[in-house]
Amino acid sequence: MGPGPSDIHPRVLEALAKGTVGHLDPYYLQIMDGLQNMLRDLFRTKNPMTFAVSATGSAGMEATVVNLIEPGDAMVVCVNGVFGARMADVAARAGAEVTKIQRPWGEVFSPSDLKDVLAKAKPKVVGIVMAETSTGAWQPLEEISSLVHDAGALLLVDAVTSLGGVPVEVDAWNIDAIYSGSQKCLSCPPGLAPVSFSPRAVNVVMNRSRKVQSWYLDITMLAAYWGSDRVYHHTAPINMSYALYEALRLIHEEGLEVCFSRHRSNHLALKAGLAALGIKYAAAEGYQLPMLNAVQIPPGIDDVAMRKALLERFGIEIGGGLGDYKGKVWRIGLMGHASRARNVLVFLAALELLLAEQGYTFDRGASIAAANQVYENLAGKGKV
Ligand SMILES: *Cc1c(COP(=O)(O)O)cnc(C)c1O
Repeated sequence: MGPGPSDIHPRVLEALAKGTVGHLDPYYLQIMDGLQNMLRDLFRTKNPMTFAVSATGSAGMEATVVNLIEPGDAMVVCVNGVFGARMADVAARAGAEVTKIQRPWGEVFSPSDLKDVLAKAKPKVVGIVMAETSTGAWQPLEEISSLVHDAGALLLVDAVTSLGGVPVEVDAWNIDAIYSGSQKCLSCPPGLAPVSFSPRAVNVVMNRSRKVQSWYLDITMLAAYWGSDRVYHHTAPINMSYALYEALRLIHEEGLEVCFSRHRSNHLALKAGLAALGIKYAAAEGYQLPMLNAVQIPPGIDDVAMRKALLERFGIEIGGGLGDYKGKVWRIGLMGHASRARNVLVFLAALELLLAEQGYTFDRGASIAAANQVYENLAGKGKV
């Protein structure tokens, strides 16, 4: 129940252990095609340039940035947590003239935050994080996307934590480049980064004046392997592809809508339970991510002792705060296969015991009752 890697379904672990075939084996080519189709369904896009980069989410970030940016290009990056700051760093290393727009941690960006900067910086690319895992804030994208395109820029989105937990609408929201990671709501081991590029973005890459600075992440070469030419580029991580294939199959078997509503139900139950203990969210009401519950540590509670006891006595991992939130916030993940009523209820029960041991005053059992009330109210409206 941390900020990732999340719990992995047994079927995904079994897939990982299957025999390793060659990276041009006809069976493996079928796996690649299946992966691309299932990723397009999940990203809700028709983009032909949709595949998985052979590395973690941060490589997805690098891949989108280095393909779109040439040295000297202007890029605007929205920074309201760790991952926006990382994107700005990646962009600067790729040679972009970076303009950062900042919001305090836990807040999101509104179109008015971007307006003046877009007019002034005239960026080629605007980068933004949809689900900021360091703060639990859920960034709306539709209006910002219109504004970015009106300014003639491309929209680049970090969907590492959002994909598989909430709707991500690449075509409907007109997203030009997007990346995710296998170990958050996709509930697969870390090691693959799904990406997708719009035809407009591909056109920009194809018309660059110089080669993409990274050989490994150059999509013009990767396209020749993932496309019909099947030109060797690098040896694909065969077994990781089996695992991601199975993880995506699980999501599609469940159904996207059911999967999203399961994430929402368990979030609402956890939130009700925490509220009964007087524990508040870091992000504002209406912008709280269902899969990453960043909450304020109650006054007087020892952060490190609490997380250590949860892990050692109950086998439950939750995340501590990063950066501005270090020592102030807990990050409770309900990602993918970990988003289950069982986890919510066991966590709340364990939390109550440990809070009581630390002398915190609260109504005993209130969190469990509140969470169960949510589940009762939702009963019949989909499985939890
Ligand atoms: C985890 C995460 C990343 C980085 O992914 P890695 O797999 O750790 O490289 C980037 N952005 C967000 C929002 C994340 O949550």
